[in-house]
Amino acid sequence: MFKTPDFIQLGKQVRSATAEDVEHALNATRLSLDDLAALMSPAAEPYLPKMAARSSEITLARFGKTTQLYAPIYLSNYCTNRCVYCGFSADNLIKRKCLTIEEAEKEAMILHDRGFQHILLVSGEAENAVDVEYMEAIALRLRDKFAAVSIEIQPMSTEHYHRLFLAGITAVAVYQETYDRNLYKKVHLSGKKSDYDYRLETPARVAEAGMREVGIGALLGLGDWRAEGLAIGYHLHWLRKKFWSTAFTVSFPRMRPATGEFEPLEIVSESNLSQLIFALRLFDQDVGLIVSTREEARYRDGMLGLGPTRYSAGSCTAPGGYGNSDGDAEQFSVGDHRSLDEVSAIIREKGFDPVCKDWDCRFQITDY
Ligand code: SF4
Repeated sequence: MFKTPDFIQLGKQVRSATAEDVEHALNATRLSLDDLAALMSPAAEPYLPKMAARSSEITLARFGKTTQLYAPIYLSNYCTNRCVYCGFSADNLIKRKCLTIEEAEKEAMILHDRGFQHILLVSGEAENAVDVEYMEAIALRLRDKFAAVSIEIQPMSTEHYHRLFLAGITAVAVYQETYDRNLYKKVHLSGKKSDYDYRLETPARVAEAGMREVGIGALLGLGDWRAEGLAIGYHLHWLRKKFWSTAFTVSFPRMRPATGEFEPLEIVSESNLSQLIFALRLFDQDVGLIVSTREEARYRDGMLGLGPTRYSAGSCTAPGGYGNSDGDAEQFSVGDHRSLDEVSAIIREKGFDPVCKDWDCRFQITDY
């Protein structure tokens, strides 16, 4: 199983890189983990325009002039975990709601009618509200209506992931939040999520279950972002070697205002975020890079074609929020409020194609 290298050492590794190391990484055709460390380093900051140009070149060559689009559907905000940074934390006195299967389908069809073909089903982690049977029932209802149905829910066993794959789920996202084991303990106060290793091993269970795509990432604003970026690189490198036929994506959720008192522990600027994205693109030319509506429209528009391959659009982070937008019980407030049509128009204006469908579940051979 994957073991995270010592987090303090990762931080030291990125900070010891020199300008020569950065230039070596920029000229390499196949980057090592040492090269990735150099590109994450403070020494790489003056090279940001060069990194952007190289990242753009690779992204265009590998993905063409396209940006994939998706929208999340929040199924439930019940959660048994106490994560200090999250509006859904069991501690927070918010209005809780779990959609019925019919309500979930209704939310999905609202997005379908808006033109979405790729949806991400999201929930808090509470097995008594959202379990494998519930997810399976929703997947079976949606599988023929959407090209791709991804999930971001509590970690499950390989067997349960396989059941969901057979029911039509195409991808699973599970973020480690922080690869710093000590910090992980401090911000995950109780609940199943406080088991660092079980969460770390989840992407491998997802891939073993046969899912087409696995998403990993870290929550930016908790730990040392440079070391987190390098840890993501180590994890991705390990997963690629073991599951060579699985597609991988990396997300970059930067902390947003949420219910509760929590303030980000680290400030990650837009420039830092861009460095992280460019470095990972240079390190892994085929990885999907996702920038969600957590980021503001200005930033997302500026990053088109420079590295990211997938954007969310028209997002609401409260369960049932598309049909009833009273703004209650959001996980966090979004930074880009534009609709699918508005985001698509900007993508076209920049000479790119907005892509709602890049997969059809009929390609997936299942025996359901
Ligand atoms: S981050 Fe996830 S697991 Fe933690 S409190 Fe929020 S919804 Fe629950």
